[in-house]
Parts: sequence; C-alpha cells; structure tokens
Amino acid sequence: MARDRGNVKKNDKVKVIAGKDKGKIGKVIKVVKNDNRILIEKVNFIKRHSKPTAQNRQGGIIEKEAPIHLSNVMLMCNKCIKPARIKMQYLEDGKKMRVCRKCGEIIDV
Ligand SMILES: [Zn+2]
Repeated sequence: MARDRGNVKKNDKVKVIAGKDKGKIGKVIKVVKNDNRILIEKVNFIKRHSKPTAQNRQGGIIEKEAPIHLSNVMLMCNKCIKPARIKMQYLEDGKKMRVCRKCGEIIDV
C-alpha cells in the first residue's frame, strides 16, 4: 500500500500533502536514499544562521530546503494536473514505467 506512491525520483513534480507546506507543488531536487526523504525545490524552507565569513562579515540567515518524508508527498500527473495514483507498467523491453492510474499517462520521461 505504501509503495503505491511509486518511487519518487529526482526532477519529479510532487505535491506536498501534509505538514506546514501542504498544498505546495515543487520539483524534487534530491532524494535521500535509505531515509525515504526528499528535497523539494522551494518547499520546507528552514532558516539557518550562518557564521560570519570573509564574504559576509556579519553572518546572517540563509534559507535552505529541508528534506521532507516521502509519505508527505504525492507524485503529480502532468495530464490530470493533480496528484496521481501510480501504477507500474512494464514495457516490451522490460523497462519499468510509472503510469497514472487515472489517465494512463506515463510519468517517466
Ligand atoms: Zn493522470
């Protein structure tokens, strides 16, 4: 059941379905393997204080994406323009593709 989300990969478009950024849609910029967490562009920003450096003598606050758990996102279907339930489909050459259950659109490009 949990695996129904399909494997989220880098550059996938996902929608956040839980947490403070619920409803946001963004591109996956990093998958943290073994941890089931992903970094999504412009989602789940956290503020970090940086120490003064040669370039920035005062230090300051940098905003940075923090990883969020895979269970908090759903893969988007570009055709349905909403989060998709994914099924796996095997092509003739044995390649595995992620396909939207609703419209049959292939998610992988
Ligand atoms: Zn679809």
